[in-house]
Amino acid sequence: MQIVTIETTERNQMIDITSMVQAKVKESGIKDGICYVFVPHTTAAVTINENADPDVVRDILNILRKLIPHKDDYRHIEGNSDAHVKAALMGNIATVIVNDGKLVLGTWQSLFFCEFDGPRRRTIVIKVMED
Ligand code: ZN
Repeated sequence: MQIVTIETTERNQMIDITSMVQAKVKESGIKDGICYVFVPHTTAAVTINENADPDVVRDILNILRKLIPHKDDYRHIEGNSDAHVKAALMGNIATVIVNDGKLVLGTWQSLFFCEFDGPRRRTIVIKVMED
């Protein structure tokens, strides 16, 4: 298992972590298998989506912000219920096939770390399992 830390800079942010995860796959020396990317936080997430047009990330964050307002009729005393809901919707694990040492992703796909209660120092856990 490999642990990576990441510094986020915005309250809501999606950061392309594909090349970092690919580097960890290479470090593992595993050619064929599965790569798990796990986010051990309750107000952050991981997802796979389009990397080509940055407006896609902007639109995802914008819609999440509209659907799940920061301030609403929440009971959670910490004041970040919106971040918990967004993280629940996006999920905290991504599974990617590794073939010939490379992450198998579509042409327009990237792995994104999703911050919903930043800026913070965050952790990403990566596990590559051999076939
Ligand atoms: Zn909270």
